[in-house]
Amino acid sequence: YPSFFSPETGIYASKHSPRDLPQNPFQDLVSFLFSHGHQGATALVDSVSGLSISYPKLRDMVESMASGLDHIGISSGHVVLILLPNTILFPVIILGIMSVGAIFTPMNPLCKLGEIKKQMSISNAELVFTFAENVRKFDGLGVRIVTVPERLDFDATKFSSFIHLLSRDPKQAPKPLIRQTDAAAVLFSSGTSGPSKGVVITHANLIAMVELFSRFEASQYNTESWKNVYLAAVPMFHVYGLSLFTMGLLSLGSTVVVMRRFDTKEAIRVIDRYKVSHFPAVPPMLAALVMGVRDSSGCNLRSLRQVSCGAAPISENLIQDFLEAFPHVDFIQGYGMTESTAVGARGFNTAGHKKYTSVGLLAPNMEAKIVDLKTGSGLPPGCRGELWLRGPGIMQGYLNDEDATSSTVVEDGWLMTGDIAYFDQDGYLYVLDRLKDTIKYKGFQIAPADLEALLICHPEILDVAVASAEDEEAGEIPVAYVVRRSGGMLSSSEVIEYVAKQVAPYKKVRKVVFVNSIPRSAAGKVLRRLLRNNHGASKM
Ligand code: AMP
Repeated sequence: YPSFFSPETGIYASKHSPRDLPQNPFQDLVSFLFSHGHQGATALVDSVSGLSISYPKLRDMVESMASGLDHIGISSGHVVLILLPNTILFPVIILGIMSVGAIFTPMNPLCKLGEIKKQMSISNAELVFTFAENVRKFDGLGVRIVTVPERLDFDATKFSSFIHLLSRDPKQAPKPLIRQTDAAAVLFSSGTSGPSKGVVITHANLIAMVELFSRFEASQYNTESWKNVYLAAVPMFHVYGLSLFTMGLLSLGSTVVVMRRFDTKEAIRVIDRYKVSHFPAVPPMLAALVMGVRDSSGCNLRSLRQVSCGAAPISENLIQDFLEAFPHVDFIQGYGMTESTAVGARGFNTAGHKKYTSVGLLAPNMEAKIVDLKTGSGLPPGCRGELWLRGPGIMQGYLNDEDATSSTVVEDGWLMTGDIAYFDQDGYLYVLDRLKDTIKYKGFQIAPADLEALLICHPEILDVAVASAEDEEAGEIPVAYVVRRSGGMLSSSEVIEYVAKQVAPYKKVRKVVFVNSIPRSAAGKVLRRLLRNNHGASKM
């Protein structure tokens, strides 16, 4: 067996040498992030206006924000909800929140009232940061709101609560004692099954993410990372964009060009204008970029040096198309989860190994197992099984949900990922399938149980299950398998509309199949795979 695999324990070690993580139990994420002296000048750039925040200014703004939050009574343990798309103020806000010892919980701004209420109540949020267009979503919820300006050159009179926070003297920022084990964020994920749950991420988890994911990757290349320019199109409210654009890259002194939302033409313009060198993406963005470059002759985006892809499976065809369209670009995949603070595996191309379909090598300081689904034993390279991960990125647990925590993070801290994978003889990881219920629409998570809980409340629905189906553009879409009440005339479009009114657009049911019954196991678990196979909507 190769040296990174132990046949006695069934454990895979990282092939990378371990990185030093701070041992001081009182190290917090924000001071860790700013402790890395670097030469970078510009931290964040707004892709539309070109307005930017320099590194010294970023630090000042974060300290002012901390001082302002302290002034309005936000401190250790308080939870702040962030309902924002990508903006250069996103990092300022969450770093300010974490430096007073408070906890942030980010959310897709397209979410509807019911979804917001749920996240507010699970996380117990008592302050909200959002754009003016979303303020009315909080009507009647009795929560304090800070309206965030959409542009940096804003009219101060309209954003008094925001100004009130940011105009505080940075020198008066509190310096609370924050333990590495203290919660820093609550992100939402469905895990291997059931409804979406609050994933508690600690300062130690975020420090590990910064060190093992971003700083580690930068150290692999013989380039000065402060000269790199990253395109931030992946959303910051999801662990992928959050970890890179609001923390990891800022510890490296790189420049992050922030796009509110991905648009192909705009992305091409922005890459060209700001000489973007790195583009972390999801598969649909790459597909769109390939098409966009084909359509605009003479456009070759020479500044791009690395494009990484993650959050969902990418097809071999798309990888081929991408490599043909961008022969000068280093293409890698990355793999991580909300529950592992995005730490997992990262592509690593060398002259000898260009394994584009692999999600890469295990991150430093992390261990893995490939567990046989029948026997539970750890399998050697070349064998497929469930991927388990262990290491400093693994979440503290699900908020107030010990059962879900103990069935996901099992014996000795192993996180069951719910992904089927294998390692090859060189230690490269391949993700083959998903054992868990989660549906990935354009890289966004959808918990079937969340949609089922809504659908079962429909008076004409007797029973229901939601499962994924393959989709060329989105990767996967949610399909509702519906048992109608007898004599009911419920139509597909009524079902689709019923859900659409209550959820963010990406979670919409996109297809309905009427069935006579829902197949369930003896324990009552929906047999989603059987449903998919019986109805021709096979997956992956
Ligand atoms: P999330 O918590 O939303 O980041 O979702 C994590 C899940 O996304 C993983 O457990 C995988 O199922 C999937 N995923 C992430 N990266 C990849 C990848 N590179 N290839 C295939 N699936 C991925």
